[in-house]
Amino acid sequence: MAVSPCLHPKITNGIVSGAGPQFGFRFRFRARPVTTSSYLSAMATSPSTLSSAFFPSRSNLIFLKAGNRCRAAVFSGRPSQLRIGNSPFRLAVAAASSGEEQPTSSAGGIENVVIIGSGPAGYTAAIYAARANLKPVVFEGFQVGGVPGGQLMTTTDVENFPGFPEGITGPDLMDRMRKQAERWGAELHQEDVEFIDLKNRPFTVKSSERKVNCHSIIYATGATARRLGLPREEEFWCRGISACAICDGASPLFKGQVLAVVGGGDTATEEALYLTKYARHVHLLVRKDHLRASKAMQDRVLNNPNVTVHFNTEAMDVVSNNKGQMSGILARKIDTREESVLEVKGLFYGIGHSPNSQLLEGQVDLDSTGYVLVQEGSAKTSVEGLFAAGDVQDHEWRQAVTAAGSGCIAALSPVTEEVKKEFTDRDVQEGFDMTITKHRGQYALRKLYHESPRLVCVLYTSPTCGPCRTLKPILSKVIDEFNQHVHLVEIDIEEDPEIAEAAGIMGTPCVQFFKNKEMIRTVSGVKMKKEYREFIEANK
Ligand SMILES: Cc1cc2nc3c(=O)[nH]c(=O)nc-3n(C[C@H](O)[C@H](O)[C@H](O)COP(=O)(O)OP(=O)(O)OC[C@H]3O[C@@H](n4cnc5c(N)ncnc54)[C@H](O)[C@@H]3O)c2cc1C
Repeated sequence: MAVSPCLHPKITNGIVSGAGPQFGFRFRFRARPVTTSSYLSAMATSPSTLSSAFFPSRSNLIFLKAGNRCRAAVFSGRPSQLRIGNSPFRLAVAAASSGEEQPTSSAGGIENVVIIGSGPAGYTAAIYAARANLKPVVFEGFQVGGVPGGQLMTTTDVENFPGFPEGITGPDLMDRMRKQAERWGAELHQEDVEFIDLKNRPFTVKSSERKVNCHSIIYATGATARRLGLPREEEFWCRGISACAICDGASPLFKGQVLAVVGGGDTATEEALYLTKYARHVHLLVRKDHLRASKAMQDRVLNNPNVTVHFNTEAMDVVSNNKGQMSGILARKIDTREESVLEVKGLFYGIGHSPNSQLLEGQVDLDSTGYVLVQEGSAKTSVEGLFAAGDVQDHEWRQAVTAAGSGCIAALSPVTEEVKKEFTDRDVQEGFDMTITKHRGQYALRKLYHESPRLVCVLYTSPTCGPCRTLKPILSKVIDEFNQHVHLVEIDIEEDPEIAEAAGIMGTPCVQFFKNKEMIRTVSGVKMKKEYREFIEANK
């Protein structure tokens, strides 16, 4: 959502107007204290700026945007005194990128959004949420479920994250993401979350140091690659041992070498097959006397001449040469306990990942292996207001870039949810129904302008205008003839003077036709039915 550059509107007697000639529109609002039900109406009024819309998000967000250009207006009044529609939102906002306004912080001690996790998913969510002025509170973690910065802190070169043609080290990449989140105002705490209550609203999140109440949570705690716990595992982690064939398989360390994969399930067989693209040969070490992988994967592995499957075999440790490099693995036959050294330059763990979803157990739908279930293509979980991103909800791709992408979706979800909800609530409040053909007033005009696939006919009238009374039934009859193909909106220019002004209406009655957000014709005065009919027929 574009929010920049934002200019500061002037607020006078309920009229908010732009600060310069570039503001070709004005807003009217009525606001009452929060103790009673209050109401806000804000609308861009010129046809050219009808594409402006307000985007209220939970608590504090209103943006106005005109097409590609930012004609954003920013309300910077007293947030706590206003409500929008029926929602407990505060009217405030800030020029998110002008930097002139402070982002809005929690209302009544309730944060907009708490993000748990500081891997690519968590930091990306933090960047997006902070830029949307949601003032996210981020629990980066400390030791539960990994270190701050997530899994990439444990790797050396990341060669596949877009934007770094020379590659970048995992810690450097995460450091950059952290700085970017911080720059946009995310509040970061290097603490583990120990408890979450999703049963009551607002949600409660407790860390070792603090308790936070919030409207929504983005859960991005990642997954932990299972390890074998070999005696020299730490020494060779990222120097021969890897838990990610897709990430590391193509690296010079492994390219053209003989490699080993441990595991007998789908992950291990997939890794083994993937590594055959780069390795000279791949050994698959399977503890059992059979593979657990799907039949298709078994067939592929067993029929691949570049893979040798060793059943009843376990890895005992890493063996090194006199340069301290990995030169093989000590393997043992489970049945005979016979030990031997298998000469390989790399060992890949394909024994699965454990999603860090423990805090959600019993509160949210998880799959049988503990991954958080989200609705396809979204970050929504079974609990409204809880969004999941990154490896904790992805047992398939588990890449930094996919985690970052889902973090973005998760951060935008609370905003879009509220926008949709707000519009829906407002529709009900305004009695607006898109399926009806004839409407009145600026709210309907804006809705139809933005959302109607039909030809929109806007009739400008004024209460004292005699010809308007003549035209209304004429036009109404013509509209009836094209019922499903056209929408009619009547605008009383005394009720909505700014609309008429911005639309350049010099007298009434006047009719304007819009299609796909373009004004395609103006007809002043009263004309014969035929004229309107022919135009509608040609443009419906
Ligand atoms: C060795 C290795 C190398 C890899 N190399 C690559 C690569 O080259 N390219 C690539 O695309 N992918 C790579 N990956 C995969 C990539 O790292 C992950 O897909 C990605 O990090 C997932 O991001 P995430 O944000 O979902 O979770 P993670 O990176 O796992 O981050 C999870 C975060 O949650 C925090 N957390 C967990 N529990 C709590 C809690 N209770 N309270 C607070 N915080 C908590 C952790 O501290 C951590 O910060 C690699 C993975 C490994 C293990």
